[in-house]
Amino acid sequence: MALSGLDIFKRLPKTNCKDCGFPTCLAFAMQLAAGKVELEKCPHVSEEAKAELAEASQPPILKVEVGAGEEQFKVGEETVMFRHERTFVNPNAFAITIDDDMDDVDERVKKIESLKYERVGQILKIDAICVRNKSNNRDKFIKVSEKVSSLTKKPLIFVSSDVETLKVIGDKLKEKKPLLHGADTASVDEFINIGKSTGCPIVVRGKSFTEIMEVTEKMRNAGIKNLVIDIGSRNLKEDFYNQIALRAAAIKKKNRLLGYPTIVFPCEMTDNPLKEALIASIFVAKYGSIIVLANPSPQNIYPLLVYRQNIYTDPRQPMQVEEKVYEIGSPNEDSPVLITTNFSLTYFIISGEVENSKVPSWLLVMNVEGQSVLTAWAAGKFVPEEIAKFIKRSGIENKVKHRSLVIPGYVAQLQGELEDELGNEWKVVVGPREAGEVPRFLREYVSS
Ligand code: SF4
Repeated sequence: MALSGLDIFKRLPKTNCKDCGFPTCLAFAMQLAAGKVELEKCPHVSEEAKAELAEASQPPILKVEVGAGEEQFKVGEETVMFRHERTFVNPNAFAITIDDDMDDVDERVKKIESLKYERVGQILKIDAICVRNKSNNRDKFIKVSEKVSSLTKKPLIFVSSDVETLKVIGDKLKEKKPLLHGADTASVDEFINIGKSTGCPIVVRGKSFTEIMEVTEKMRNAGIKNLVIDIGSRNLKEDFYNQIALRAAAIKKKNRLLGYPTIVFPCEMTDNPLKEALIASIFVAKYGSIIVLANPSPQNIYPLLVYRQNIYTDPRQPMQVEEKVYEIGSPNEDSPVLITTNFSLTYFIISGEVENSKVPSWLLVMNVEGQSVLTAWAAGKFVPEEIAKFIKRSGIENKVKHRSLVIPGYVAQLQGELEDELGNEWKVVVGPREAGEVPRFLREYVSS
């Protein structure tokens, strides 16, 4: 079990030096116990105390990595029940099933690989493939598992009730660090051996919290912490309750034996693709770490990926793009210069419309901490004095020979003052208010 704030306090230097940013060692200890601060913030902890406190400073839900290489994903590390308390840390992973009795394995892998979309600068995609042993034929399952592994770099999850088969697959594919499903009270000793010899993450399954804790305790005592919990009954109501109860046990009760990411199987709760997507959306919010689906149709997957992106966006930090001069098309020294703010949505909408205009342009994107144009203006960040400084530091004056700047129509009132701030070297032109009007505006602007 996790140490309490007082347990931690006893191991701190108790000098109240404030170097950690907290007024007292006790305040720091309480925050550390709540998982809200890192132990490293106190530079004066002895090595002995560090070792003792290492566990307390770990997040209440441990991080688990699945797969290897650039497609590896991680889940866990969550510290709160609700997103508004702080933030959710690692987005849930989506996996699509391939069963070893399917005839179209190649086609299905291709289809899963094709589920990839770009939205506000992020790539949204399926994270893993879950190979299930449906044939009850050991050789067939191993053969299909190896085939899927050869066709994709995505992390793999292997589900079989045959421990020996999982041992063979774990040995053969250990470099890829697949997730093996799963250990229960009867097979825990064999899985401890598999975990030690392959280093693969392992799913712990059980019908009750007591069963799960029995297995995770044995695993932990054997030094295996790369665990994922499956407490699924494959019944939506029960599994929904279980996910919430698990999260609460780990975060509120600080129960380390239940402090692991989870895996849920909407694919085994319904045969209806639409219902599967709806059930999956429930587990995105509450609190499935790996969500396994059977239906890879884009019309169901895309909304789920967008929904996940929204849930896992830090509400305290607007999505933003880098401040710089963006080239759209192949602009030259005569091309138009437009300016906007670095809120991702603003940037992607405006840059898309500039691209649609087919007028090569320079788009100046100013850092206003990810706020939209009007919000940044109201907050005093997108104002003439700051814009003028940005124009100078952006280097745009070395890229164009004209001095004409298009500002968003929503801040038309800045026109005169901005020209003054720029020493009347630049002519400031008011652009359209709506992004959709940008193509027509640009075409007329360059032909005028
Ligand atoms: Fe105490 Fe360490 Fe914080 Fe100083 S830096 S107040 S010693 S916890």
